[in-house]
Amino acid sequence: MQISVIGTGYVGLVTAVLMAELGHRVYGVDIDEKKLAKLKKGRSPIYEPGLEKLLVKNLDRNRLSFSSSYEKAIPSSDVIFVCVGTPPLPDGSYDPKFVFSALESVAKNLKKYAVVVIKSTVPPSIGPSLKKIMDKNTSVSYDLASVPEFLREGSAVRDAFHPDRIVIGASSDKAKTILLKVHEKLPGERIIGDMLSAQLVKYAANAFLATKISFINSLAILADKIGADIDTVVDGFGSDHRIGKSFLQAGLGYGGSCFPKDTHALISYSDSLGYDFSFLKQVDRINDKQIDYFVVKIKNMLGSLKNKTIAILGLAFKAETDDMREARSILLINKLYKLGAKLRVFDPVAMANAKAILKSKQLYFAKNEYDCAKQADVLCLVTEWPQFKKLDFGKIKKHMKKAIIVDGRNFLPKEKLKKMGFSYEGIGRR
Ligand code: NAD
Repeated sequence: MQISVIGTGYVGLVTAVLMAELGHRVYGVDIDEKKLAKLKKGRSPIYEPGLEKLLVKNLDRNRLSFSSSYEKAIPSSDVIFVCVGTPPLPDGSYDPKFVFSALESVAKNLKKYAVVVIKSTVPPSIGPSLKKIMDKNTSVSYDLASVPEFLREGSAVRDAFHPDRIVIGASSDKAKTILLKVHEKLPGERIIGDMLSAQLVKYAANAFLATKISFINSLAILADKIGADIDTVVDGFGSDHRIGKSFLQAGLGYGGSCFPKDTHALISYSDSLGYDFSFLKQVDRINDKQIDYFVVKIKNMLGSLKNKTIAILGLAFKAETDDMREARSILLINKLYKLGAKLRVFDPVAMANAKAILKSKQLYFAKNEYDCAKQADVLCLVTEWPQFKKLDFGKIKKHMKKAIIVDGRNFLPKEKLKKMGFSYEGIGRR
């Protein structure tokens, strides 16, 4: 089939490459010319394991091309995936302007029937506005549909090729049949329904995962208070198959471009419907407080933080990505900076993005992990990059002023570190 993917960011680029790999002919459309120039040369503008290789492969076999031209892409397309950003607004709601403008351009260039699929995360109430934009700008027949995206940055390629499920929301049987066909080579359960339900599925998934994180972080605080060990607790209650152990990792809380934005949007959307989603508000509050809890832990180890040197290992919002959107490191760094600490920071791939965001602060951007640890009073693990587990901690210890590690992801080998003479503090870890 002929496919257009509008927006070639984290979701759009993976979708474009996936569709090409499945055998479709794909146009990736974006308004960012710099991004397009890189893509045309086979270079991925984002760090995502395995993505660039598939990008080059599909460019070479002419299944994939990139352009800023809707005129080129849309007329021949059978299916159009809209994957533009839906960034948060200060009041907690989301900004639909990119979706609206993309849809207007799609509609103006429609020459034959197509299924216009919203992959961007949008609240269910958006449907009538989308239809209005389409109808105002085209008289060609079309169907609107929603196929929410569940990929995780850092494992996006694997997730795209091995989804747990594909949720298809559409009002017409024709659109549902076409979308089943587009995805037919992929594994995973098919859940077919209406657009409203499909869009609510996406918010439900992110809100539930955020809930698990805030739940385990609350429990970890309790474990700290009584001297219990959260890892043992999770092994114990998570092995009940009704509960499961995944996403029960105590730490600094959730960040990234989706969970904070989508929980806020669901809260704000519920408020607009006259429903106080107080449960989710509490999940969000717990998450907000988790950084303060971490800072108190550092203070308990060091006393005043004024002029203390703090090494921060990991800046990206999670491992295996360069994405710094709503990264917990930003909040932590801002708080430590305000308390007068001197900060040395390092991330394996997110340094350039981090520098752009943190440029107003006087931070030392270290060359590597050992450089980061130099003369540090404490080393804080903020992102769970696998390579941090394999560090030569003897060398790290020699570089540090004091052998103290505060692990914000309960990730490092605590027994080994304790045996080596480090004072180790995790979140709810004994
Ligand atoms: P992103 O910011 O990485 O990419 C968005 C892209 O859209 C950018 O390249 C931008 O230039 C382009 N764009 C904006 N307006 C455009 C227009 N009118 N025409 C063409 N291109 C345009 O965003 P993302 O992280 O890929 O997220 C996209 C959507 O998917 C969001 O709604 C997000 O909530 C949702 N989502 C994201 C993830 C994730 O892990 N990033 C996962 C699931 C769902």
